[in-house]
Amino acid sequence: MKRYRIATVPGDGIGKEVIPAGRRLLETLAAGSRSFAFDFEDFDWGGDYYRRFGVMMPDNGLDELRDMDAILFGSAGDPDIPDHITLWGLRLKICQGFDQYANVRPTRILPGIDTPLKRCGPKDLDWVIVRENTEGEYAGVGGRVHQGQPIEAATDVSMMTRVGVERVLRYAFELARSRPRRQLTVVTKSNAQRHAMVMWDEIAHEVAAEFPDVRWDKELVDAMTARMVNRPASIDTVVATNLHADILSDLAAALAGSLGIAPTGNIDPQRRYPSMFEPIHGSAFDIMGQGLANPIGTFWSVVMLLEHLGEAEAAARVMSAIEQVTANRALHTRDLGGDATLQQVTDAVCAAVAGPAAKAA
Ligand code: NAD
Ligand code: MN
Repeated sequence: MKRYRIATVPGDGIGKEVIPAGRRLLETLAAGSRSFAFDFEDFDWGGDYYRRFGVMMPDNGLDELRDMDAILFGSAGDPDIPDHITLWGLRLKICQGFDQYANVRPTRILPGIDTPLKRCGPKDLDWVIVRENTEGEYAGVGGRVHQGQPIEAATDVSMMTRVGVERVLRYAFELARSRPRRQLTVVTKSNAQRHAMVMWDEIAHEVAAEFPDVRWDKELVDAMTARMVNRPASIDTVVATNLHADILSDLAAALAGSLGIAPTGNIDPQRRYPSMFEPIHGSAFDIMGQGLANPIGTFWSVVMLLEHLGEAEAAARVMSAIEQVTANRALHTRDLGGDATLQQVTDAVCAAVAGPAAKAA
């Protein structure tokens, strides 16, 4: 029997609601399995921790996570603490500290869920966006001078390294190659950003030469937003910078029905450190504490976590449970136009996961 060590970091807002639901799903799965089990460790880092100790997570926090097999993360963001403090103090500290350089964001239209796109069937939208996750616009390089004076100035410098760009492009080409269409769109903005983005394009050409079996094209990020809306079926795998992919993936989630269903994995492809899985949404201040959050984004993140652990069969079982539940409109939460609660959706997905196992046993 394999035992996996899973860290749960609910964080703030609806993270505190969806992560316990995700843990319950994993526990349900393990209860029906003879081949694996989970040992959970929960970390109460985030806004409340900050109010007590003045930091979002302890200084040795990364050491506490280092030996985990995976991390399930909720959201960092508190109504009473500036967003740059919560984000940099927790989520970015883990992503950058563990060099999780590939942020993988699949998007599909799940059964029963409507897309706001007219003339778009479920088969016309099946994307994976790969986001550079350690540098670029979110390198944290910059500063402010003359604060509060009329001559105040501020910079945020985007840092692109050859190693950083090359490794994420290579990851994206490999991922594209593993999908049936073998197609990659490299997003850029090298018309306006004439240094780092030009290097990005050059490296794309170099890496592409290693993948003659992958069809690839280049798209400027602004044109890409229009293409996502107008020609969704022309897109398969996408790679973009930290900022560009952050924005494109929220658009992708909305086009697939809701921010509440979209998952992501922050992956260290070399497996030197644990990878981290999380719904892409944030703390959702407007609905937090009400039991209304859609847990599907977390459940789909659990699927990615299981795939990362090599538990493909369990991952497929959870995905089919999710699809069974989304197909039933009575089980849609408010963000999908329904009135189901987090509890009802969680019960239904857990029951669907337990069902076949109970029969098989
Ligand atoms: P958000 O994702 O929290 O919310 C945007 C909208 O989507 C809200 O109307 C919210 O109710 C809705 N929504 C999001 N997730 C939902 C779900 N699971 N079910 C139903 N509805 C859902 O984005 P925001 O408002 O820009 O940010 C709020 C806070 O979260 C900020 O502090 C921000 O910095 C933080 N944030 C954190 C992360 C992260 O930790 N990965 C990501 C995004 C935002
Ligand atoms: Mn985002």
